Amino acid sequence: MDKPNQKKPIEKGIASFIGRKWDKRPPQVTEAPPLQSVKTANVSARFTDEEAAKMAEPHDPESFLICCVDSRFQPAKALDYGPGTALEYRPIACVIPPVYKAEPDFKSKMAFRRLKGVETIIMVCHSDCGGCQAALAVPNPDPASEDDLHTVASFIHTCGLDIPLLANGFLATEKGDVRSAGDLLAREVGVKSFYNLLGYKGRDAHATIGDEMKAGELNVMLLFYDLERRSFDLYDPHEAEWKHTAACDWIGFRAKGAMHKCAEDTRKVAVSLKKPYDGWLK
Ligand SMILES: [Zn+2]
Repeated sequence: MDKPNQKKPIEKGIASFIGRKWDKRPPQVTEAPPLQSVKTANVSARFTDEEAAKMAEPHDPESFLICCVDSRFQPAKALDYGPGTALEYRPIACVIPPVYKAEPDFKSKMAFRRLKGVETIIMVCHSDCGGCQAALAVPNPDPASEDDLHTVASFIHTCGLDIPLLANGFLATEKGDVRSAGDLLAREVGVKSFYNLLGYKGRDAHATIGDEMKAGELNVMLLFYDLERRSFDLYDPHEAEWKHTAACDWIGFRAKGAMHKCAEDTRKVAVSLKKPYDGWLK
């Protein structure tokens, strides 16, 4: 049995912390931290005055961005937005699982979107995606495996696509070129994730995100970003195909609703992408 004064280290720590509260000595900090204006706090010059001012404002984002974890894709640069504009969620390959498989991390971020009244969701998948290439390399991964390639490939499967079927087809179409086959897979994973997202809980009276879209109260857009060309393709759900947006140089978050307008305009002028896998995919 412990002696009365022999406390364990953690108890001693708590005792000294509590003791400090009642300490009669003068406080060590004698000066209040100086009140800094937004301008003087911006000493690093990494932020413009406009950006610094935005960061000091209450949080009022207008978009929710879902894109791959890939470090080469810099959404703020590519889509031309600054602080305070977009909430970000970055799962590998932009994978959104069906709602019944949703992780608390994503569900809580979607709840945050609803609380903030965000009316635009932008999804971005991209070229040379390591996640999709892992899925091609290990088309039948073991989710319980400790092998890192299996772990990454298993995550791609959570979108619900028949990955082994697609992997076979894309690799055959692209004559074994993993990179270009991976680009095709990245687009398909993006499209599946887009439709999965529509089943998630909507805002206010809308049961789902799909209902919110139908009511015209939410824009959801799916883009494919080519890292080499630094250009976007846009998925057109009306025609179920990808379209180039290279001619649409003002794609971005500059104004509320700009992305939606861009989608409408792009639909009119865009050149449809040739689908090398037309015929066997459907
Ligand atoms: Zn990626």
